[in-house]
Amino acid sequence: MAATAVRAAAAAVTAAAGSPASLSRFRGALVAAVVGDCVGGEFEGAEEVPMETVLRHLNGLENDTKGDATLEYSDDTAMARCVVQSLLTRGGFDEQDMAHRFAKEYSASPGRGYGAGVIQVLKKLASPHLSDVYQPAREQYNGRGSFGNGGAMRAAPFALGFPEQANVKKFARLGAMLTHSCSLGYNGALLQALAVHLSLQGALELPQQFISKLITEMENVEEDDAARSDARFLKEADKPFCERLYRVKDLMGRSTVSIEEVISELGNGIAALHSVPTAIFCVLHCLEPRECFPESYGGLERTIAFCLALGGDTDTIACMAGAIAGAHYGIQAIPQSWIKCCEGAEDADVSAGQLHMLYQQLSQSDSSDIRTGEKSYGLWTENKSNGAEKKNGTQ
Ligand SMILES: [Mg+2]
Repeated sequence: MAATAVRAAAAAVTAAAGSPASLSRFRGALVAAVVGDCVGGEFEGAEEVPMETVLRHLNGLENDTKGDATLEYSDDTAMARCVVQSLLTRGGFDEQDMAHRFAKEYSASPGRGYGAGVIQVLKKLASPHLSDVYQPAREQYNGRGSFGNGGAMRAAPFALGFPEQANVKKFARLGAMLTHSCSLGYNGALLQALAVHLSLQGALELPQQFISKLITEMENVEEDDAARSDARFLKEADKPFCERLYRVKDLMGRSTVSIEEVISELGNGIAALHSVPTAIFCVLHCLEPRECFPESYGGLERTIAFCLALGGDTDTIACMAGAIAGAHYGIQAIPQSWIKCCEGAEDADVSAGQLHMLYQQLSQSDSSDIRTGEKSYGLWTENKSNGAEKKNGTQ
């Protein structure tokens, strides 16, 4: 596309999505994450998914005989809903409350596709005698913790709950550590939340700057001793997420990129390292029209379709890419017929409005209001700052 056409397309997206952190962007992020999870479930674990099959699946959602939430959400959405409700109820991050919600949600609805590892953690989190809610995750895998994408798949709400970038990073990391204590797990969540945060601000209008900003941020994050030690132990690059983001940048510079190249360069698996940079790439790659998609498709539809065609962990990759793309394009970009088919999409729309209100309240309040006690890092209203009340509320 010519530079002027790219600028015109970017201006059209801005007009539709609204100003930075607009309600439309919030709704787009949360609803598209649910849609990605629900429509992606069809191809989870598939090795090869021809684009024609993906497009047939998506076209089928337009069929009037579907609708009424026929596509069920999986653990991605189930846990993200817990994050949202915890942030809204507590007015910020409360690890006890969030852990309790994860455990309760799992016991109420265990058939959502949780991995065997996280099930062990969720069962321990259900114990009323547990004092340190991070302990069960730390005990996993002989004390090395999980590096799966389970923290990243539910990270988007942190970007919607906190206006300050430093808080998005801090709480996305802590929220992930409730189940994923390996740095390659929680740093994936931090990266995902950061990508949604930047997208919400309109940063995807300048794709090169967007990826450069992510690299700069992750350079600092991965300086950490734990990150270096985990990377060495797992025989990964010195700064594994940075290394993958450089690959994303390299792929962005190529005129054509095949599905096979994306899988071999970035991965499509259940490790955060093999899925979060992939989701980010899918969004970037689909900013412009591509030959493989119907002309009628907008950027959000292209992004979801591309994620599904990768096979592998399609529901989680589409969920994460959906959140980033939804924050860029806004709610109007998601086809109504898709929303109608997906369980939980309308609830997500309501929650997005509530998170938008919380975000605006926090934007207006002084950041010094943030209380950072030994165990809690929430943003508290007067009547919720009492430790005893908080404890009683989460038992
Ligand atoms: Mg899932």
